[in-house]
Amino acid sequence: MAVKYVMEPFRIKMVEPIRILTREEREAAIKEANYNVFYLRSEDVAIDLLTDSGTNAMSSEQWAGLMRGDESYAGSSSFYKLMEVTDRLFGYNYVQPVHQGRAAEKVLFPLLLKEGKVAISNMFFDTTRAHVELTGGRAIDCVTPEAREVQSKVPFKGNMDLPRFKELLHEYEGRIGVVVMTVTNNSAGGQPVSMANLREVSALCKEHSLPLCLDAARFAENAYFIKQREEEFTDSSIEDIVHEMFQLCDLFTMSAKKDAILNIGGLVGAKDNEELALKLKANVISFEGYSSYGGLAGRDLEAMAIGLLEGIDEQQLHYRIGQVEYLSALLEKEGIAHQSPAGGHGLFLDAKALLPHIPYYEFPGQALAVELYLEAGIRGCDIGSYMMGNDPDTLEQIEAEFEFTRLAIPRRVYTQAHLDLIVEAMKNIRDRAASIKGYRIIWEPPILRHFQAHLEPLE
Ligand SMILES: *Cc1c(COP(=O)(O)O)cnc(C)c1O
Repeated sequence: MAVKYVMEPFRIKMVEPIRILTREEREAAIKEANYNVFYLRSEDVAIDLLTDSGTNAMSSEQWAGLMRGDESYAGSSSFYKLMEVTDRLFGYNYVQPVHQGRAAEKVLFPLLLKEGKVAISNMFFDTTRAHVELTGGRAIDCVTPEAREVQSKVPFKGNMDLPRFKELLHEYEGRIGVVVMTVTNNSAGGQPVSMANLREVSALCKEHSLPLCLDAARFAENAYFIKQREEEFTDSSIEDIVHEMFQLCDLFTMSAKKDAILNIGGLVGAKDNEELALKLKANVISFEGYSSYGGLAGRDLEAMAIGLLEGIDEQQLHYRIGQVEYLSALLEKEGIAHQSPAGGHGLFLDAKALLPHIPYYEFPGQALAVELYLEAGIRGCDIGSYMMGNDPDTLEQIEAEFEFTRLAIPRRVYTQAHLDLIVEAMKNIRDRAASIKGYRIIWEPPILRHFQAHLEPLE
């Protein structure tokens, strides 16, 4: 399948130089970083694909918006501009800015969950899972089994597993505090959820009187996939698809550092539950700031109002998803396995397939991430057994469902030549894959170890 690179729908008028280190300098830098990419200094990285969160390039309109931002403590005009946009896109009675996605989780989840309660999702993102557990509740993943067939070309690998979901509704009757639909499904490889699946989950939640919350970090990418892959929506606008997605839910949390093309920001919303909205507002005022700014500066609200609309622009989405599809097609031609069809925000390399000689407890996803840095200064990260950590009860190493090395693509930051370089690096790594060694952890913190652990290459 030949995929043509989609031309950037913008011109570049500000640049940031990249520093290229020698192989020897990179070897020293990664050793100094304890073979943990989170400890690398960004100036030692040539192509930074650690995350697409907050690493986006804002437009000239957004930068102009920063200058227009109204910094009034209460009732800022930038807040009202943002509310006009969120009204139009989502149609919720109550929407509230917060400083980022996890802040939305922090103010919402304690209102729905407590010890003994459970939350069910097509797959929880790591901070979302953490905020469920911080309330004393339990987070249960329920993704379609198709997500695990890494090389099968199924269009909506992010879906909720409906038969299993029905069983869970029965099994946990009376104990379910909230159902969460993550769009796109980040942990399964940026895979989309279909409107058909969302409609069924919504109907089941109504039947059981359960609130349905959209974890909407990549709502625009998900809407684009629905338009591309679900026949009913071929002629719909992205805006109409977004509106229907939100209307099928009762609540939403959003990290605006993704599809709203910002460097910082988030939102939380309730469609028509006035009582919950009042409690949310009280939490925001206690933890984040007054409700008309929610922990952000007025200029951030202004940039978000502009970014939300740029984020749903079809041309921008065509280019954005096109970049990932381009990378996927080139890698497929080289026989380099990855979650496919490619997801929205990045490419998830199948480290298990590339490095079959490295067992899960020697972290193939991490080994590949280090190798990409050594080869070409590319920084990705492990989404596999290294990140998963240990079983909290036995402290035994857990084998993850996936062994991915994720290459997240920041929005509007890298060009075709950068993507070509990733493919060249991967070809070289593939050719010497058999000689690549696994890793051992020599120090780790009690939780979220991937951010802080120290590692050592095995001989
Ligand atoms: C990034 C993300 C979050 C958390 O948002 P932050 O802005 O990083 O706090 C929650 N859910 C999903 C699906 C995400 O991708």
